[in-house]
Amino acid sequence: MRRKKSCWVKDCANKQGSFFEIPCDPKRRQIWLDILARFVDPSKMYLVQPLVCENHFRNEDILKSRSGKNVLSRTAVPHLYLVI
Ligand SMILES: [Zn+2]
Repeated sequence: MRRKKSCWVKDCANKQGSFFEIPCDPKRRQIWLDILARFVDPSKMYLVQPLVCENHFRNEDILKSRSGKNVLSRTAVPHLYLVI
């Protein structure tokens, strides 16, 4: 059974739209984790797959892949609507 997608960001209840995985590239991954460490709900860190929903990115960071999927630009980092 597939788990429902859930955004890692604290107090974000978004269940729709695109969700993005944390990048595999070690440098970008660390940047993401540094940001998310301040905003992630600790209870979510163990329960759900690490995904960040599209609400936390600027429009220009979200690109269309050839197959029509939403993908992030190489420089995108989550930074919108992050609340403590
Ligand atoms: Zn979210």
